[in-house]
Amino acid sequence: MYSSSLIGSFQTVLCDFKLDGMMIRYSQFVPRLYNFCLSQGMEPGKIIPSRAFCSDESQGFPVILIAKQFGAFPFNHGRVGGIVSTDRHAPHAEHGRDIMIIQASHVGYEPETREFGIYRRIQTEDCNHSVNCGKIMDIIKWYRDEYQFACDNIYLEPSNSKHFDISINNLLLHQERSEGLLLNLPKIIAYDNKGEFNLIRTLSTARCFEASPDLVRSIGSKWAQQERKPIGTLLRPELFKYKHHLDVDEESQGHLEANLIDPMPWIVTHPAPALAAAQITTR
Ligand SMILES: [Zn+2]
Repeated sequence: MYSSSLIGSFQTVLCDFKLDGMMIRYSQFVPRLYNFCLSQGMEPGKIIPSRAFCSDESQGFPVILIAKQFGAFPFNHGRVGGIVSTDRHAPHAEHGRDIMIIQASHVGYEPETREFGIYRRIQTEDCNHSVNCGKIMDIIKWYRDEYQFACDNIYLEPSNSKHFDISINNLLLHQERSEGLLLNLPKIIAYDNKGEFNLIRTLSTARCFEASPDLVRSIGSKWAQQERKPIGTLLRPELFKYKHHLDVDEESQGHLEANLIDPMPWIVTHPAPALAAAQITTR
């Protein structure tokens, strides 16, 4: 279970982020960044820039602009996904008097459909679109699939006038499994004063419980009326978390996934998961 401050911080990172009126073209950003460096006492011609960007070719344009403005090809400080290679600080520092590092995750955008997370690969045979950042989206896929299974296999049952019931697939009730989507059951099913839940009936692959009053209240009029219905996207991020095997050390690819696993419920339920993941990684 997360502490309320941790949940608050994910919500703050994602909800306080505004794009409208805040975007700036790289061609304007880089000169301003250069001027900022000078304002900090850095000397023209003595600055060695560095970038912690993904290896994606879409990152070429900013690299060219940085090289042009700073008069030096930027040192490569990044790993795929936009993770900073902290073991490269020492060599970078030896290559100039003044040093600057810029770190960012990247997110594709298709202006025609106003969709984040895809990028038109003009060098491919048919100029197709693919996910971007591909590495981040590759990591997210397993979590999205787990979320989709939960959305499809938790059912809101029509009210029986006494209470509202919810049926949950047995796999999702197995809280001890080594990896998967783990439900925050105290927020989903009702418990009495003694901590006992009200099991309504047992089905072949699921069990049906009385739903928690808070869940019933938050879903409101969207609760199933005549026929049972899957919970779908009404399964909000506060109601679950993930467990997944990670191979983590400071410099591994698992580092990127480790940064994303706790906020992952907010990422998979976000209208633009690639954008949400990039915000989290950058923060
Ligand atoms: Zn990438």
